[in-house]
Amino acid sequence: MKNCIKENTCLCGDNRYKVIRKGVKYLLKKGKPPAKIIKCVHCDLARTFPSPAPSEFYNESDKGYLYMLENEDLWRRFAGNILSEISGYKPSGELLDVGCGIGILADEANKKGYQASGLEINPDAASVGRERYKVSLFNLSISQMSASDKRWDVVILNHVLEHLLQPVQFLSDCRRLLKEDGILYIGVPSYKSWTAIVEGKDWPHFFVDQHIWQWTHKTICEVVNMAGLSIVNIHSKRNNHYHFGGARGKIKRPLYRFFEIIGKGDQIILIAKNFNKGITSPEPDLSDKTRLLRCVSNDTQSRGVIARGEAPKQSNVDNIMNLVSVLL
Ligand SMILES: [Zn+2]
Repeated sequence: MKNCIKENTCLCGDNRYKVIRKGVKYLLKKGKPPAKIIKCVHCDLARTFPSPAPSEFYNESDKGYLYMLENEDLWRRFAGNILSEISGYKPSGELLDVGCGIGILADEANKKGYQASGLEINPDAASVGRERYKVSLFNLSISQMSASDKRWDVVILNHVLEHLLQPVQFLSDCRRLLKEDGILYIGVPSYKSWTAIVEGKDWPHFFVDQHIWQWTHKTICEVVNMAGLSIVNIHSKRNNHYHFGGARGKIKRPLYRFFEIIGKGDQIILIAKNFNKGITSPEPDLSDKTRLLRCVSNDTQSRGVIARGEAPKQSNVDNIMNLVSVLL
């Protein structure tokens, strides 16, 4: 994979693609002609077409952080979920939330005994967070931050990578932020999850206004490995962003909970460590069907290499889920 998207080419360098969703509506830009989701036929990494430009949503006039302010309890619950995942690896220490918005996660982490800070590119969001929660929030780019000598026990990258033109470069900068035994937490949506299949083109995490990339377990492992990180654990969880209303909600709520239990939830959680610090990836847990065995290789020569061949075919189960999608 390469470091950036160029002339509508996949990160793997292949420009052949298949359209997997049409008519995907913009959630913020109402009235804009709908987008498509296209999938690289070589590596399965999917992307929004036409690709959104980060300069349109990462700028000083962006007020997306207001949504966090208005839904503070919800964001505190998300933060609690993330911190409970992390506590199994690092129950204390210095923590940096990259793309922290107004810093709710950093505030929650401080309450749980971490020494937490945030990194936020939007100066208004950082300013609001400092004022409101008295937390340490840096208004710097990731490259400026990683150029400093400061290193962290925990770096969090929650629902950030899908917004970035150059995710491998960004991950590499995040790796440099880690202490020798530090951990990186990554959360991204998974477009191959059963929830995404049931929701079809209305799956909210296509979010074509801002999401450039759509991940699978395989592709997120590949970019993480390319950035010089090794994978400690990867699993699925259900995203929390659904509003279950009406009769369909009564069916969807238990259905999506079931998907989560069997490892088909639509959020991928990945814990990584620095590749070059003598850390050996653990033996794969064969009971965890979501784990990609090929991604735990410690062979530096194999990093980022994608096996050439046919894109995986849809399984019979996925076809059944497509049918469920029609029925719901
Ligand atoms: Zn590709």
